[in-house]
Amino acid sequence: MEKERNAWLKASESERHEMASLGQEYIRFLNRAKTERETVSFLKEQAREKDFIDLKDLGELRPGQRVFIEHKGKAAVAAIIGQKPFAEGFNIVASHTDTPRLDLKPVPLYEGSGMALFKTHYYGGIKKYQWPALPLSMHGVIVKKSGQRIEVRIGEEENDPVFTITDLLVHLAKDQMEKKMSEGIGGEDLNILVGSLPLEPGPEKDKIKEGIKKILKEKYDVEEDDFTSAEIQMVPAMKAREIGFDRSLIGGYGQDDRVCVFTSFKALLDVTIPSRTAVCVFADKEEIGSVGNTGLRSYLLENAIADLMNHNGRSDYYEVMRALRNSYALSADVNGAYDPNYESAFEKQNSSYVGRGVSLTKYTGSRGKSESNDAHPEYLARIRKLFDDHDVTWQVGELGKVDQGGGGTVAHLLSRYGMEVVDCGVALLGMHSPFEVAAKSDIYATFKAYRAFMQKFE
Ligand code: MN
Ligand code: MN
Repeated sequence: MEKERNAWLKASESERHEMASLGQEYIRFLNRAKTERETVSFLKEQAREKDFIDLKDLGELRPGQRVFIEHKGKAAVAAIIGQKPFAEGFNIVASHTDTPRLDLKPVPLYEGSGMALFKTHYYGGIKKYQWPALPLSMHGVIVKKSGQRIEVRIGEEENDPVFTITDLLVHLAKDQMEKKMSEGIGGEDLNILVGSLPLEPGPEKDKIKEGIKKILKEKYDVEEDDFTSAEIQMVPAMKAREIGFDRSLIGGYGQDDRVCVFTSFKALLDVTIPSRTAVCVFADKEEIGSVGNTGLRSYLLENAIADLMNHNGRSDYYEVMRALRNSYALSADVNGAYDPNYESAFEKQNSSYVGRGVSLTKYTGSRGKSESNDAHPEYLARIRKLFDDHDVTWQVGELGKVDQGGGGTVAHLLSRYGMEVVDCGVALLGMHSPFEVAAKSDIYATFKAYRAFMQKFE
């Protein structure tokens, strides 16, 4: 095994240019799509530009046809029809659109000590201490009883206000600093500062809260009760940026798993009439266990496949299951890159490293591979060969030391159908933090890996 492979050194001059432009495009994508809804609306818009057609508007599907299926604005499936019959299986790359964040509670607004604040409930695995003292932006949708939808996106434009969670001043933090890191900031401490001006003339009580309510009503046509039927997410307001004197890295929020969303979709755009139908799945809710009807524990994938097959004849249970069983998949999700600041958490020999290409992860899980798919060597061998044959720089990647923690992906959910699946994606530094870091060369290698898989894997 070539552990020392470096994706930059292996790249040709023209590939280095492609790497740079892919990086720029990726930064624009990260700044545009900070939630699952924004990600799906981006994909939908791009898909339309690139001749994908909503499956509903299509009749019989012919090889080369580009198909898009949107699912509740939070998940999507994009496919390019192959030459072989569907029953012989699909080449599927499955990533997720959701990211860790702070969601507003259904009754968020309150007043305390001269300020108005919003209560939150965090979503996904976060280190809570990372969220105070950051500029936060507000994204999401409010649906009024009338059915009217109000799209929210505040804090991304230069002149927008932002929001924040204040941290305790260090001068008075003696007790806090003695706590364990997991307890320094509690879940109920993640309250968002949203204003401090009293309403005048105003009521005796809660003047500041009333002031905020007035602005919400006048500016956004939102009543306090409307938050009950809303989905508002607080995310870091910082922009994604290049990192380093050599600009070789990209820092930004939400790269788990939008780096795989972006690279798999870009790869699909490059696929010309494939032998087996190429499918990108962009699923929601991975960060909380792939639950709900937009997560991959639902029938989202079967339904999409049945919908496709229904356009070309047989789509009965047997036929759909046969197609799924004969499919191959890459579970397109990120891995944790070896971090020299935290050496003790990693096992050197089996970790992924920044700059060494796409990371191929046989198993994930925790406490003895629990909840892991654990890919078969027969399949891994074929994927290795595919990558080597198509000049994809790749590395193995186990997530950290045994019993140091762990994590899961959608791989085991895809494997239920009998299809072969392995985890494969970019290794990040600071995964799930407000500012995750990825190498441009790894992003490019991952794009190439997905493209080779969707175009060529038989
Ligand atoms: Mn992920
Ligand atoms: Mn994650």
